[in-house]
Amino acid sequence: MTKPVTELIHHPYLPPAGFHAPQPGVYKASTVIFPNVAAMRARDWKHKNGYTYGLHGTPTTFLLEERIAALEHGEQCVLVPSGLAAIANVDLALLHAGDELLLPDNVYGPSKALANGELKNWGITHQLYDPMKPADLEARIGPKTKLVWVEAPGSVTMEFPPLGELARVCKAKGVLCALDNTWGAGLAFDGFAAGADIVAQALTKYPSGGGDVLMGSIVTRDQELHEQLKLTHMRLGWGVAGNDAEAVLRSLPSLDVRYRAQDRAARELARWLRGRVEVAQVLHPALSGSPGYENWKALCGIDGLAAGLFSVVFDGRFQAAQVDAFCDRLKLFKLGYSWGGPISLVVPYDIPAMRTAQLGTWTQPGILVRFSVGLEAVEDLRADLEQALEALRGKS
Ligand SMILES: *Cc1c(COP(=O)(O)O)cnc(C)c1O
Repeated sequence: MTKPVTELIHHPYLPPAGFHAPQPGVYKASTVIFPNVAAMRARDWKHKNGYTYGLHGTPTTFLLEERIAALEHGEQCVLVPSGLAAIANVDLALLHAGDELLLPDNVYGPSKALANGELKNWGITHQLYDPMKPADLEARIGPKTKLVWVEAPGSVTMEFPPLGELARVCKAKGVLCALDNTWGAGLAFDGFAAGADIVAQALTKYPSGGGDVLMGSIVTRDQELHEQLKLTHMRLGWGVAGNDAEAVLRSLPSLDVRYRAQDRAARELARWLRGRVEVAQVLHPALSGSPGYENWKALCGIDGLAAGLFSVVFDGRFQAAQVDAFCDRLKLFKLGYSWGGPISLVVPYDIPAMRTAQLGTWTQPGILVRFSVGLEAVEDLRADLEQALEALRGKS
């Protein structure tokens, strides 16, 4: 069997007769014409036995769904207009009034906001758990719990959880486990082998790779679960555009090389930053001493992969305004959200405001800055960091 990385390039695709180009075409449609009424009635959008309407898929989106399902080691895929829409689609499909949702305290922020907003308004409660303590998750699962999100590593603070143990707790309690696999991108580890029932990803990040497309995916191995997600998807009207699907299809063949290059550069910079006096801690799950390093090693392997992403906790003597000035001074690292694109990005975060004090998942002093490493020459990125650090130290 070929590896998913190879399947991203050599996936079965039938071009129109007589036109054998390797890149699939861009099909765009709202309306799809049926040959007759019988055909119109026979086609079933749910089972993909034909094309019915643009919202339910085109050859371009079906192909992207197949490739993402292969990448994630799954069977079925639903595409949605953003990574956050993937999270929302899962929540809305699986949770009803009176149910409870469990989120890791370091979950992707807007997922918490959705739970605190619409889900709460609709009578769906939630609790936050400490992802580094499977016993904490286990203690919080009750009769109302219907869904648990897991993320490896957690957003911004980068703690790598014991993912398999968290999934085993869910399974033992009969609760569905959904993984946000944006960081792993389907390359660093197999989310289903780790025990997840649903593997979602922001294709916006590495699979797009350009910083120019928003898209999300929800992959499953269970047809019934897929149909449940797909029904909600259909009722919400979340289609994706043909040109956007084609942009992701065009980027997929280079996904593995880009991921590895960004990983290598990020580790080099993270190691270098670890030796700087301005820095109290570098949070990168593949660097020993980072929270969850052993869990990363167990899941991804000692020679395993990691996304080109890390956070730095500055020494406590630097005030927030000084760290802001450091970020402003960077020239190649641009101030901006998201990651996985060619341009390196930086964002300072106020972590205490983002974490639950009672859980104690964040107790450090010092301002945290998240770096996303792009595809620039690593020496240039290091020089950029160096000049901004020198200025920071000069002002302290
Ligand atoms: C970016 C991101 C998302 C959301 O993706 P969008 O396409 O920006 O909505 C979800 N989860 C994680 C972990 C992310 O980093």
